[in-house]
Amino acid sequence: MKDLDQALALVLDGLASAGSERVPLREGAGRVLAAPAHAVIDLPPFDRTAMDGFAVRAADVTPGVPLRVIGDLAAGGALLTLDPGTAARISTGAAIPEGADAILRVEDAQLSNGSVNPTADVRPGLHVRRQGEDLHAGDVLARPGDILTLPRVSALASAGVPAVDVFTRPELHVIVTGNELLPPGAPPEPGKIYESNGLTVELQAEADGARVVSHGTVADDFEATREAIERGLEGDVLVVSGGVSVGPHDHVKPAFEACGVEEVFWRVRIKPGKPLWFGRRGRTLVFGLPGNPLSTIVGMALFVGPALRRLAGEADARPRLERGRLGEPAGPSDNRTTFLISKLVPDADGVPVAWPTERQGSHMTGALGESDGFAIAPHGSGALPAGADVDILRL
Ligand code: AMP
Ligand code: MG
Repeated sequence: MKDLDQALALVLDGLASAGSERVPLREGAGRVLAAPAHAVIDLPPFDRTAMDGFAVRAADVTPGVPLRVIGDLAAGGALLTLDPGTAARISTGAAIPEGADAILRVEDAQLSNGSVNPTADVRPGLHVRRQGEDLHAGDVLARPGDILTLPRVSALASAGVPAVDVFTRPELHVIVTGNELLPPGAPPEPGKIYESNGLTVELQAEADGARVVSHGTVADDFEATREAIERGLEGDVLVVSGGVSVGPHDHVKPAFEACGVEEVFWRVRIKPGKPLWFGRRGRTLVFGLPGNPLSTIVGMALFVGPALRRLAGEADARPRLERGRLGEPAGPSDNRTTFLISKLVPDADGVPVAWPTERQGSHMTGALGESDGFAIAPHGSGALPAGADVDILRL
């Protein structure tokens, strides 16, 4: 049995993306850059006005002395040249005309009979956004390893970048095992339960950047399990739900062995989720997640998600924990790092306070309906008082 940190290191250490690809900017959103992204143009690309008003030559402006208005310049509209003693009406974002060097704000001007009478003075450069004052063509806008967040996507779009080099998305295959499982919408049957892990795995994997290939539900039968696993090993990551224990109907471990998957560890000191199995065949990572829905959620959040994010190019792919406090006491952690299903409520300072639900236990799926995530009681910690500092895994 491995400690959580040890097990996570065995999954993540040395793991890297399989490659990169060039994709349209929109498809790159949320993914990790594999090559620097350079501005195509200067920003601003030309001198522009920051204000609605009149483009003028600052030297021509004297309050009380009207200037003839020779045109109206809209953003994106035609350009013109400004002769001495003239002004052009201009709207925010429009190019400064040739010859002009400042903007007289509309608030500082009176327009009558085709002339504008300044009520304030201007100096050269006033309200002009200079070409290149933000950045220059060729400047690096984002670097390898950067995640293409919304602000970065916005910056790249402004700077004329149509496509980006990003790390490829890992492909995750999922197999669900269990004779007792009913698909959604099927009428209830005695002895059967509704299948939920397939959905958990698919949604979490997609949120962590994977493309998902589902192999559906296979019966608790060695040959069926072995065949599904053989097909599932084509991807970067294979997740098999259920059947990793040692009962007579648990065929996953022998099927992994028959397919040449090498075990790295089996069982982690966590609750729920202890019988988690991890191995590899070639470059494919293989996870056997215990079938309890809570164990699946925890296993995805702690191991599979981080592995996918690393494969997608994220340098820091470890589970994202928050610091918070317990709202009420929690019992001793049973020598395993314990994930307490909790409602998370921010206190007056915005610090999340975890209120563990009354029903705890890996089969208590109904309690999940009241929860936002888990409070983590580290293994070895005794009983924790109300107010104790804890790590929180928000889901
Ligand atoms: P197993 O790991 O296959 O021994 O399953 C452990 C427990 O989780 C059993 O109570 C199963 O019925 C339940 N279980 C297994 N697979 C699923 C699933 N896909 N959806 C919901 N519950 C499951
Ligand atoms: Mg089973």
